[in-house]
Formats: sequence, structure tokens, C-alpha cells
Amino acid sequence: MELHQDGRRLTPQRKKVLDLFQRIGSGNHLSAEEVHSNLVQSNARVSLATIYRTLRLLVKMGFLHELELNDGGHRFELLSQDHPDHHHLICLNCGRTEEFESEQVVLAGMQAAENKGFKLIESTLNVRGICPDCI
Ligand SMILES: [Zn+2]
Ligand SMILES: [Zn+2]
Repeated sequence: MELHQDGRRLTPQRKKVLDLFQRIGSGNHLSAEEVHSNLVQSNARVSLATIYRTLRLLVKMGFLHELELNDGGHRFELLSQDHPDHHHLICLNCGRTEEFESEQVVLAGMQAAENKGFKLIESTLNVRGICPDCI
């Protein structure tokens, strides 16, 4: 993985957060609070605000992908080559996040981008609903 993307250094703090995501692997979605409590458990002294800033930065640097929930809540996941464009079902009540793949969505994105002359970066669909446990 490129550590000097965007010309910014990966500080020990940022590396710790990134390590956590790499440990749990792609396909797992964590909130800032979960990242925070995880790091505090491993004796890191870091504020939630710092975690938020770090997560945002890692998104900008292209290491993480940010998912928006309904209520201003956010979840983050590792952006990885072997886990390409995938889509999410998000429970509006508990935040449970399930992944699915859809060739059609990816194709629709490509088509739309081509029609409007956009350079395609990603095509992902977030489907919001209520999970079976919350219905
Ligand atoms: Zn995902
Ligand atoms: Zn739910």
C-alpha cells in the first residue's frame, strides 16, 4: 500500500487506526465510537474528536471508505483492491450494515458516467431500511 499518498505522512496515530481496520479486514464497518473504544482498550490515549479527524483524513487519503447512515452517523471500512465496488443495506434503527454485490448497479453507474462525460471513480448504492431484528 502506498504510504505517501496525497503527500501526507502516515503518523503513528493514523497508522494505529489503519492497523485496526486491516486487522478486522475488509467488509467490516466501524463507527468512530467503535474505533475509539477499541484503541482505548489497547491503551492508546486518544480523544474521540481526534479519532473523527483521523478517520476523515484516512478517507481523504484513500485508505478508508465512509458510509453515511441516516442520522448523521457514519461508519468506516477499509478500501481495498480485493474488495471492489460493493453495496450496502443499512438499518436505520440499529445501524446494522450488510453488503451485497450487483453487476447492474456498477453497469448503471458506468453508463451514467459515460453519458454525462464523467470520469468514473466508484459506483456504490446505499439501501436504507429496517433490519429483521428491528421490524
Ligand atoms: Zn462495505
Ligand atoms: Zn436493525
